[in-house]
Amino acid sequence: MFEPYYPNKWGITPEMDLGQLPMFIAVIKGLKPAMTGVINQDSYTKLKEFCKKFNLSLIISDYKLINPPEELLKELKQKQKLPTTRNICVPLSNPNNGNIYFYISREEKDAINAKKFHWENQIINGRIVSTSFVDHINFGYAMGYPDCCIKKFINTLLMRLNPTERAFIETKGKFSFYTNNLPMDHYYFLTHHHPCSFRCKKTIKKSKELLKAIKEDDEILAKKIEYHLKLPFLVMEEKLSIAFQGKIKNEEIYYKNCYLIGNPTDKLFFNKFKWRNRIRITDEEIKIYKNDFLLEIINKKNKFNGFILKF
Ligand SMILES: [Zn+2]
Repeated sequence: MFEPYYPNKWGITPEMDLGQLPMFIAVIKGLKPAMTGVINQDSYTKLKEFCKKFNLSLIISDYKLINPPEELLKELKQKQKLPTTRNICVPLSNPNNGNIYFYISREEKDAINAKKFHWENQIINGRIVSTSFVDHINFGYAMGYPDCCIKKFINTLLMRLNPTERAFIETKGKFSFYTNNLPMDHYYFLTHHHPCSFRCKKTIKKSKELLKAIKEDDEILAKKIEYHLKLPFLVMEEKLSIAFQGKIKNEEIYYKNCYLIGNPTDKLFFNKFKWRNRIRITDEEIKIYKNDFLLEIINKKNKFNGFILKF
């Protein structure tokens, strides 16, 4: 489950660490104006070669990101809400090894536009710096996200809600796996934005086009994507969920294997699920079992702090 995949066709090698593979394909195929991501500075040369091969424009951020010391994170957590990307912005000339943002497009103007409106919250001089909502809108258009989803995302931010929870609540009827954005950055996904609902027509249309384009070139990759998008997920927070290789039966997931979609710091939490094979979810708690033995109870902060999402 979620083993990295390096299709020969695209000349992708492990050191490139292209967790966003489907988005690269979408830009190459002209299905998306631009994409952005983070890469370690040491992998930049490889990425540059890749872009050259496919005639893509590549530009990078004017700063790099380094890991913040734990004490700073703790201090910030008490004062302000931590951003989903927990990094400190420093000049490119900083001697520490760091990550850089890249912006890729077929037409150079689209990469420039994406960089101009890029909106991740960052830690600068010990404070969390957010960008304005106007940038969120412009960035969404620069990335080719559907307007309905951009509109809903802004509103979700204003209301300080978890976009996954919001989309879940607002989905009436059957959920479409084409809208499953949970595994974004983990190789097997089609949607790299927060859909307004898990039946968003515009998102489904875009993802269908992308899956069709991928299938034409690499049927194995297309199959892997579809398989992973249909797995059951336990959603804890916006950037923390767990995918299970298993089946849902009466509010329970019976599983053989599980996979963390979250920060490396969430590993301790994730370990509670490893080597077990069943979880039971209620409004108040998550119970974790190995066969019939109850081994762990996690108290939920609210009903949506741990809910099952299955497409
Ligand atoms: Zn939408």
